[in-house]
Amino acid sequence: MASISLRGVQKAYGDGTPVIRNVDLDIGENEFCVFLGPSGCGKSTLLRMIAGLEDVTDGDLAIDGAIVNDVPAAQRGVAMVFQSYALFPHMTVFENMAFGLKLAKTPKDEIERKVREAARILQLEALLERRPKALSGGQRQRVAIGRAIVREPGVFLFDEPLSNLDATLRGQTRVEIARLHKQFAKASVVYVTHDQIEAMTLADKIVLLYTGKDTERYGSIAQIGAPLELYRRPKSRFVAGFIGSPRMNFLPGKVASLDAQGVVVTLDHTGENVRVPVSGAGLQTAQPVTLGVRPEHLEFVDALAVAPATAATTVAASADSVLTRTVSLVEQLGEHSYVHLDQPGGAVLIAKAPGETRLAPGDRASLRVPRAVCHLFTEDGFAADALESVEHYA
Ligand code: ADP
Repeated sequence: MASISLRGVQKAYGDGTPVIRNVDLDIGENEFCVFLGPSGCGKSTLLRMIAGLEDVTDGDLAIDGAIVNDVPAAQRGVAMVFQSYALFPHMTVFENMAFGLKLAKTPKDEIERKVREAARILQLEALLERRPKALSGGQRQRVAIGRAIVREPGVFLFDEPLSNLDATLRGQTRVEIARLHKQFAKASVVYVTHDQIEAMTLADKIVLLYTGKDTERYGSIAQIGAPLELYRRPKSRFVAGFIGSPRMNFLPGKVASLDAQGVVVTLDHTGENVRVPVSGAGLQTAQPVTLGVRPEHLEFVDALAVAPATAATTVAASADSVLTRTVSLVEQLGEHSYVHLDQPGGAVLIAKAPGETRLAPGDRASLRVPRAVCHLFTEDGFAADALESVEHYA
């Protein structure tokens, strides 16, 4: 059982350019923490610093309250599972799993007991005498996980463990890792991935690393929070765009008015007004802003039943706004469809619709924009604060 704490942690390689900037982070005992971000954002570097495989350039890294900056990897009580499995090809599954224990001069009968127990948990019992080349990718990864389990570490570190598996195996192994974490609830897990579905489904806490437009912020944390917190309350346009698939729609506009009920935004190109329940603090009329709304939150309404909003319409504080657009493409996925609509100004607006939607390219459609799920971003990319008085995501 171990907690991890990072204070002002920095990392720079050769030419001095920071790869990790000023990271403050606490990972609690038993917590499943996922480092998320696209390739090159610094996730592995951060993980490898915790593992003791990379030096910390600046700041403090502590495990269970003790600073470990200069403690060798083998003495940190951590076990790492790599994307490439890193198994010894000439050893059997049993020998691979027993290797670390043997090095640590663990008594033979204890090795036997621990390896058999891990093999039972991972359903590898029938494969113990095989060599890695006679195993599938999923089985190899289970052996790599087994090798970590037998060491009974306080911290499990996973570096993109599912990347080499095909889609079905990835799904199965993901569920297995979630089940294992429950079984080994006393250990903390740090898990690196670029896949937001893995992050959303596995994490207690997601650490999303920044890779937006501002290169000065690369290697810093964009947001830390529970998966739904990042989904519901992204602090910036970068987080809003990274979490969720298809990604959030972003519509440029200007602040038309501000009051206690929120901010009314007039969209560029169409002049439609949308009320967003955010605090107007720091905003002023005519200021350029971006409205954010997810495809799954736009609701198709009968065009005849709801009059579309126009520039002249004032938007009541309690009313949802309505946008009218022309359908350009319908992607049918079975259970649901994604409808692409022309967005004046050249972009595309995507809205989720039922699988059996009759909408087709060329149709005009009206979309309700439920105000409780709207977001507003300023030009520097930060989100306006949601009004506490409005039940956000009720
Ligand atoms: P991720 O795991 O998110 O894909 P990494 O942590 O591997 O990202 O890399 C972060 C950045 O650090 C990248 O720009 C990468 O090119 C750079 N980097 C990684 N390892 C080294 C190294 N040994 N020397 C110099 N730069 C490196």
